[in-house]
Amino acid sequence: MYDFDSIVGHEQIIEHLQNAIKLGKVSHAYIINGEKGMGKKTIAYSFAKTLQCEEHATSACNSCKSCLQLESGNHPDVIMVTHEKASIGVDDIRVQLNSDIAIKPYSSPYKIYIVDDADKMTEQAQNALLKTIEEPPAYAVILLLTTNSSKLLPTILSRCVTLNLKPVSSDAIKEHLMEQYSIPDYMAEMSATFSQGILGRAIRYASSEEFTQSKEEVLHLLKYIDDMELYEIMESIKNLASHKLEINDYLDLMILWYRDILMFKVTKNPNLLLFKEEYKYISEQASKKDYEGIENIINAMNKAKVRLNANVNFETVMELMLLTLKEN
Ligand SMILES: [Zn+2]
Repeated sequence: MYDFDSIVGHEQIIEHLQNAIKLGKVSHAYIINGEKGMGKKTIAYSFAKTLQCEEHATSACNSCKSCLQLESGNHPDVIMVTHEKASIGVDDIRVQLNSDIAIKPYSSPYKIYIVDDADKMTEQAQNALLKTIEEPPAYAVILLLTTNSSKLLPTILSRCVTLNLKPVSSDAIKEHLMEQYSIPDYMAEMSATFSQGILGRAIRYASSEEFTQSKEEVLHLLKYIDDMELYEIMESIKNLASHKLEINDYLDLMILWYRDILMFKVTKNPNLLLFKEEYKYISEQASKKDYEGIENIINAMNKAKVRLNANVNFETVMELMLLTLKEN
């Protein structure tokens, strides 16, 4: 259910939005910025629901007609801007937003537009949106959801209130997994730890029967990677990618491994490691690699994630990443 009261973490952002409602200072345009799985849509829909609720309070009542319409995805005055191509084009913005926004709300105080993947707007699309953001009707609220707000034009950024989502504490995530999903203690702990504060990722880990097995396979690869040939590593990664988890999840696990190596190199303290039980392998690799090399590897993995998200060919991305890995 979309509801400020049931959101895990993000207290400061919720407080900011509730204050804006209380003081009657709701902005016409917000950017909700955060990694995939952090809860951008949940926050956007909870905000929209509260703004439109017939009780006009700082939390949604969850029982009026407006709240029920929003929950069922049929609210006439909350519009999700969609796009068919890989990018959001100028016509998407013109047709679904600019020319629709002049029509007054059907039954609510506000007319709310949610643009998911807002960083995929072309420059033209952003310029078209800018005109609306510069002179919006009094009832308009536009919510731009993005994983990378730096891709938005400075002119857009300067006219929006930007809300940056932060990682949620792993205790809060663990508690949520156990209470809402009845995940056993050990699994909840592990999923919360490896999710790095991203609730959506933790839920995916916890609900994947293959997560434990996949994690073992990634670990096996990472332990012996220095002794493997490029083509062997490539084969292993292809095998992994055919499993249930997303390739991004495997890359995240690999990044955590190299962060552990870096952490161990700096502190020499095995208790600070995520992969505590693999401390032998981690200390061995830490002694073989220099700081720059480890950072290069982590950067190459982050770059691979960005490229995969931009739909660059899987094998090309992986080859580039593995070359950096082998060079360092
Ligand atoms: Zn309501």
